[in-house]
Amino acid sequence: MRVYNTLTRQKEEFVPQQEGKVKMYVCGPTVYDYIHIGNARPYVVFDTVRRYLEYKGYDVTYVQNFTDVDDKIINRANKEHSTMEEISNRYIEEAFHDADGLNVKRATVHPRVTQEMDHIIEMIQTLLDKGAAYEDNGTVYYNTKQFSEYGKLSKKNLDELIAGASERVSVDDAKKNPTDFVLWKPHKPGEPKWEAPWGAGRPGWHIECSVMAKRYLGDTIDIHAGGEDLIFPHHENEIAQSEAANGKQFAKYWLHNGFITVDNEKMSKSLGNFFTVRDIAAQFPYEVIRFFILNGHYRSPINFSRDLMQACQNGLERIKNCKKDLAHYIANCSEIPLKEKEKESIEELEKFKVQFETAMDDDFNTADAISAIYELVRFANKAIKDNMSKELAVKMEDMLNHLCDVLGIAEIKEEQSQEDITEIEALIAKRTQAKKNKDFATADAIRDQLAAMGITIKDTRQGVQWFRG
Ligand code: AMP
Ligand code: ZN
Repeated sequence: MRVYNTLTRQKEEFVPQQEGKVKMYVCGPTVYDYIHIGNARPYVVFDTVRRYLEYKGYDVTYVQNFTDVDDKIINRANKEHSTMEEISNRYIEEAFHDADGLNVKRATVHPRVTQEMDHIIEMIQTLLDKGAAYEDNGTVYYNTKQFSEYGKLSKKNLDELIAGASERVSVDDAKKNPTDFVLWKPHKPGEPKWEAPWGAGRPGWHIECSVMAKRYLGDTIDIHAGGEDLIFPHHENEIAQSEAANGKQFAKYWLHNGFITVDNEKMSKSLGNFFTVRDIAAQFPYEVIRFFILNGHYRSPINFSRDLMQACQNGLERIKNCKKDLAHYIANCSEIPLKEKEKESIEELEKFKVQFETAMDDDFNTADAISAIYELVRFANKAIKDNMSKELAVKMEDMLNHLCDVLGIAEIKEEQSQEDITEIEALIAKRTQAKKNKDFATADAIRDQLAAMGITIKDTRQGVQWFRG
């Protein structure tokens, strides 16, 4: 399996530190609002990476944090005459609601900054003791000059960075170098605070991830991931902190997803060009949002549009319909023994799996993996028409379910209650009888009645098949 490592800017063979085990950290959201579809991309993409690693037999420890102390949360709390805790608890719950809808598995641990304060203070103290940080009037800064590899992830040269930083922001007088960044902010009235040896206050953003990764995964992790906007400064600073504090390599593989754009501009809260997952979910099922995200390679940009969402919905329906057709076929077909020429079809089924795995092994190419699923669907639809044997149909169904499950897509959920199902099946039986009696008016009336209930029926050689929609 090869993965593109931002650290080396090339695809590398994936070899975790410990055989059979993967330690993975994904930067989570700052919880002051609903997540937008751009934020949903790392959720879905790295959940899929995790699923694929698990499918390959790895035992994955997956950590995703919540940033629950931040200026934006404090501002929102002040605006609503609420507390930071209330705001962050609310939006953590909302983020879980969306993640569940998107079929994102819960992380092994979801740490929150406010619950890690002792460990944050401890790492800042280590950095001070090692001379990697300095304090000025209650603010603690990281000294980037003493970390000779600063810039190794973003491939920026420290001198260029210093020049760039001085142009962009008014240089903070207390900083020794313009690229130095804050580890601890002194307390301001009206803000939450924690006691620390150098004075009360709260941590900067970057230190939290270094601390939580170390605490739940150890000094060196296998995969660190997030959106590409985090490469600099967030991930660059995480490396500087962790490697100075622990004296070891921080992460072996750095994976970054590309942006979701609108009119080719990054979707973001600050630009105001964003769509929340919740708003989109009112128009398209959550599963279509997941499918939409997986339809592109995770490193390529995706331009969000209604048309593309619609196309994805149609594509997903095609796969789900094939699953339903196979299930119906298996439940109703006669027990035809496996035909001689079908032995070749069984071998061919394996080819779809190989095609799928080859795509996923090549830096998690979900777009090509979905193409392999579409080809399998085409193959299955034809085999149903050709009256295949039950044995082949069962194998096809297994393969289709298996591949869809790896991507977490096209799950068929029981959408009706048992009472509904009984009623629908009674109506279908009545219609079948009416057709037998050549009473087509009644048969058509029942079809219309079912349509009004949102049920579509399909006459097949194996009997009547029904589905919602
Ligand atoms: P934030 O809450 O802004 O820190 O973002 C949470 C995660 O979403 C980070 O991994 C970001 O890199 C990612 N992200 C934010 N906006 C986008 C976007 N438009 N496209 C893809 N990923 C994004
Ligand atoms: Zn982070």
